[in-house]
Amino acid sequence: MPFGRQSDGTRIGWFRRDSGRRPWRLSAKLLIASSIATVIGFSTICASVMLDMRRGEEELARQTLENLAAGIDADISRNIELYDLSLRNVASNLVMPEIMSVSKEIQHLILFDHAATAKHFGVIQVFDAQGKLTHDAASLDPAPEDRGDEEYFQVHRANPDVGLYMSRPMLRRSAYSIVLSRRINDTDGGFLGVVVGSIRFTYFHDLFGRLTLNPGDTITVLRRDRTIIMRTPFDLDVIGKNLAERPKWRADNLKEGIAYAGVGPVDPTPRLYVRSGSTNLFFVVVGKPLASILNLWHREVLRIGAVMMTLILFVVGTTLFLAREIGRRAEAEEKLEELATTDALTGLKNRRKFDIEIDLEWRRAARNKTPVAVLMIDADHFKAYNDTYGHQAGDQVLVGIAICISDSVRRSGDCPARYGGEEFAILLPGLSAVEAFTVAETIRLKVEQWSEDPNVTTVSVGVASITPTAAIDWSYLIEAADKALYAAKANGRNQSVLAAIPQLALVA
Ligand code: GH3
Ligand code: MG
Ligand code: MG
Repeated sequence: MPFGRQSDGTRIGWFRRDSGRRPWRLSAKLLIASSIATVIGFSTICASVMLDMRRGEEELARQTLENLAAGIDADISRNIELYDLSLRNVASNLVMPEIMSVSKEIQHLILFDHAATAKHFGVIQVFDAQGKLTHDAASLDPAPEDRGDEEYFQVHRANPDVGLYMSRPMLRRSAYSIVLSRRINDTDGGFLGVVVGSIRFTYFHDLFGRLTLNPGDTITVLRRDRTIIMRTPFDLDVIGKNLAERPKWRADNLKEGIAYAGVGPVDPTPRLYVRSGSTNLFFVVVGKPLASILNLWHREVLRIGAVMMTLILFVVGTTLFLAREIGRRAEAEEKLEELATTDALTGLKNRRKFDIEIDLEWRRAARNKTPVAVLMIDADHFKAYNDTYGHQAGDQVLVGIAICISDSVRRSGDCPARYGGEEFAILLPGLSAVEAFTVAETIRLKVEQWSEDPNVTTVSVGVASITPTAAIDWSYLIEAADKALYAAKANGRNQSVLAAIPQLALVA
């Protein structure tokens, strides 16, 4: 009987195992993992680019607002400076001793230059130490006025070092203005009165009107004590209010040179606020709604987000589809492998599978130094049975023998197989010769009991068990079991015979 493996049997066995279902499952997992990594990678890159874009938009807006604030600040400062020159001129000329000796007309010419009559500037007036009007740039003979109760008058009277003083916004000659005033000192520093001028709100309206502002943009001019001097959009309710008194608004929110993003003290629209800071008198705050700064960015986020979502859905869809296909293919491979390794009649493993399993177990047993047992089982007088009862009945007997074998061999590593026509082989890893013999007897007796006529279908069994070494091939084990089977046949059949292996140590 030609036992033993084929010359390339082992190779075929290993090749088949390697191309089995495991690599497919692995690649499905790899595909899903790489898709997830790709999606996460792209999303991260996208998010980082979008955040950079957002920072860029905010930075650009901040610079634009800074420039705007600085420009407005410079314009107001220059005009106040020019006007202040006229006020200084009055304050210094008034204390010249000669001024009292000249006529009112000459006094007028000396005190008031033409700068004070410029557009948006109010008339310069001089009030004495009691607050009574003494000189008026618009008239040689002005109507009596008393400004002794005004805040700016009292500030100058109380404090010689105020310099140029900017008042709260007030109605002056039926127009909203801010009053600019200076103290007049005599040669000893004593209080002689104040020189007063004003800048009308039309100046600010004119200035802001020249700028291109978007809806929601704000420009606020504040006195150093945070009193609102002017604001666009213009709202009389907030003009003159002091922001330092607002409970929710902290001065720290908007320090010089620092931009502030959030809700401001006047209305609930969140804006980016930037503050100028040049003179000691006032500062300018410009604000732009965050929504309008990020308008473009939001549109880009939506656009790129939609594209990304589509791509992600596509990748996820494709991945799931491919993973399912790979799964199906793996299943088909598994079924195919099952078919290719199973005997159709008995449902046991076929010889090819048996060769693969014995090769594997042989190597493992060699590593672990444990025995491997093989039973070779052959139906007795089967040709005669076939001739008597027919091939179909013979097949049923083979199925019956297979059931007897399966019932007796249940450990996970065991491999019962149909080895040839009416021959079966059973691989029993780890079993000694005696243990394997017991299994052989169990099967033989089962077949004997199952058969209606013990003289017709019995089995003979050859048993061999070897602890493999590097020098021995597993075909030797098969040969030994086969020889034992021959011996069983020769001894009269329906019996189990243990192989004698004198040159090798049988595990007992
Ligand atoms: P021995 O006791 O010496 O083994 O005698 P035997 O007749 O069983 O042995 P032999 O090798 O002479 O005959 C084997 C027979 O098994 C030949 C064949 O008709 C039969 N056989 C082989 N395969 C099948 C099969 O798949 N189905 C059936 N019904 N019979 C088979
Ligand atoms: Mg035979
Ligand atoms: Mg036979």
